[in-house]
Amino acid sequence: PTPNPNQKIRDKILVTVRVRPLSSREIAQNDTSAWECVDDRSIIHRPPASMLPERSPHHHPKSYVFDHVFGPDSVTLQVYERGAKDVALSALSGINATIFAYGQTSSGKTYTMRGITENAVRDMYAFMEKHSERDFVIKISAIEIYNEVVRDLLNTDASSGPLRLLDDPERGTRIEKLVEDVVRDSQHLQKILSVIEAQRQVGETQLNETSSRSHQIIRLTVESFPKDVGDGTLVKSLIASLNLVDLAGSERVSQTQAEGTRLKEGCHINRSLLTLTTIIRKLSQGRVKTGHLPYRDSKLTRILQNSLGGNARTAIICTMSPAQAHVEQSRNTLFFATQAK
Ligand code: ADP
Ligand code: MG
Repeated sequence: PTPNPNQKIRDKILVTVRVRPLSSREIAQNDTSAWECVDDRSIIHRPPASMLPERSPHHHPKSYVFDHVFGPDSVTLQVYERGAKDVALSALSGINATIFAYGQTSSGKTYTMRGITENAVRDMYAFMEKHSERDFVIKISAIEIYNEVVRDLLNTDASSGPLRLLDDPERGTRIEKLVEDVVRDSQHLQKILSVIEAQRQVGETQLNETSSRSHQIIRLTVESFPKDVGDGTLVKSLIASLNLVDLAGSERVSQTQAEGTRLKEGCHINRSLLTLTTIIRKLSQGRVKTGHLPYRDSKLTRILQNSLGGNARTAIICTMSPAQAHVEQSRNTLFFATQAK
C-alpha cells in the first residue's frame, strides 16, 4: 500500500535549530561567530579566515539541513510560528504534543521555551474564543526532574517531598499527588507560570546548582466538549496534553557518549537525557513499534510516554551559541538534531 503522505509528515519530528547572538561575555573574550546560517534551512561551520589552516582554498565545510534554521537576528515569535505552533495547537484537537528545547547550558533553551510558552498560550486562548461551539477546560501542572527525583513546581508547601510515579493501566504513567490547577484565563495562566518560575529558582538555591542538570516540564491539559444543545445528543469530548520541556544541558549526554561511560546510578550521567535521545533517534528512524522503545528506563521518558511517539506530535528546538569557544558542543547539538529529523 502507498503510504499516506500526510501521515508521514505527521509522524516526523519537527526539528528546528536556533543560534543565539554572541553574549556580552563572549564578545568581551574577543570570541566571534563560527557559524553561518546559509538559508532558512541550513547552517555551516565557517570559522573566520584567520582560523582556517593555510593552504586550504578548497575547504568545503559540511552543511547541516533541518526543517528550520534561525540565526542570531531571529525573534522567538518566528521560531514559534514555524517550529512549534502547529505542534502546540494540536493539543486543542485531542492530539498529545511535546515541544523540547535541547542544547548545551547557556545556549538559550529557557529563553526560547519561555517565549514559545507565551505564544502558545496566547494562540490557545484565541482558538478557544473562536470555537465557541465547544467548552474548554485547561489544567496545568509543572515538575522538575533532578537526578531522577521528581519535584512538584506548583506545590509551594516546603514539606512536600519528591513525587512518585504510578502505573495506571488506563492512562499510562501517573504522577502521585501532583498538583494540577484549573486555569481560568490567560492572565491567570501568566500568574501560575511566574509561580513555577519562582519555585524553580528556590530549588536551584537549595541544591546549590544551576538548572543545567534538571529537566522542567510544564504540562497543559486541554479538555473540550461540544456545548450541550439540549436535544440529548451524545457529545464527544476531547482531551490531550501539551508538554513544554526545558531539558538539562546537553553537555551531560555528549560527555557521556564521548567517554563511552556506562550508565550508572549516582554518577554525573543524566539518565533521563540519555534515554530521551535514544528514543528520539529510534523514533526518527521510523517503523519502530513504540512497545520496543526504552520509555521505562528513565523518569522523563516514562512521564512523556503518551506524548512521545505513537500518535503524538513532537517538535524539537535545538539551541546553540555561535561562539568559537563552543564549537565542539554546538557540533554535538547539530549531530543530535540530525539524528532527530
Ligand atoms: P539555557 O537555558 O540553555 O542554559 P538561557 O536561555 O538561560 O540558556 O540563555 C542564556 C543567556 O542568553 C540568557 O541571559 C538569555 O537571556 C540569553 N539568550 C538566550 N537566547 C537568546 C536570544 N535568542 N536572544 C537574546 N538573548 C538570548
Ligand atoms: Mg535554562
